[in-house]
Amino acid sequence: MSIASNINTILASLKPGVRLVTISKTKSVEEIRQAYDVGQRAFGENKVQELVPKHEQLPADIEWHFIGHLQGNKVKYIAPFIHTIQSVDSLELLKEINKQAKKHSRIIKCFLQVHIAREETKFGLSEQELFEMTESPDLMTFQNVSIAGLMGMATYTEDKVQIRNEFRYLANIRQKLKETTFAHHPVFTELSMGMSSDYAIAVEEGSTIIRIGSNIFGERY
Ligand SMILES: *Cc1c(COP(=O)(O)O)cnc(C)c1O
Repeated sequence: MSIASNINTILASLKPGVRLVTISKTKSVEEIRQAYDVGQRAFGENKVQELVPKHEQLPADIEWHFIGHLQGNKVKYIAPFIHTIQSVDSLELLKEINKQAKKHSRIIKCFLQVHIAREETKFGLSEQELFEMTESPDLMTFQNVSIAGLMGMATYTEDKVQIRNEFRYLANIRQKLKETTFAHHPVFTELSMGMSSDYAIAVEEGSTIIRIGSNIFGERY
């Protein structure tokens, strides 16, 4: 199967209101261009040192999403161009993103990453940390970030019931925040959940953004 036909198959299966972010980590500029040429504009990367050169070599109308663990001291390298940072996991990081975005007179879209998986290794805020963060008086003072939703990764397992429960848990947290902290914040709309192996379940549970790599480009080695 080609990159183009893989993308078209995924897009045809999605319901309206769900967007595809093509995850291009470890993939070459040529492979990304094949996806671009069939109309894909949103791409996700998880390493700053890989994202910056790809951004420089590819068309400027690509909407780059950052999906990996982001160190505060690296925000400055992506602040001039990044569209969305999906993996915000602390108030300090958000503050730094705000500061760097301000230098470029930009507003950077941010999702708060929530730890929903059973695995220890996945990054993100616990529910309690998330609520502590969203209740911080600092949060609404940041003028150069727009907190637009939540991101989460389910456990890598064959157990579909568990995956569904984890996505449902994230959807419920977002609903709670929509009714409280973000009640007067109409941009808080996104729920980024679902990868190659589990996106069908994520969409059923209310995902608005799926992040797909290997189903498009093939396995990463
Ligand atoms: C790699 C990655 C994906 C895509 O994974 P696939 O299984 O290749 O679709 C999605 N989200 C995050 C955060 C990732 O790191």
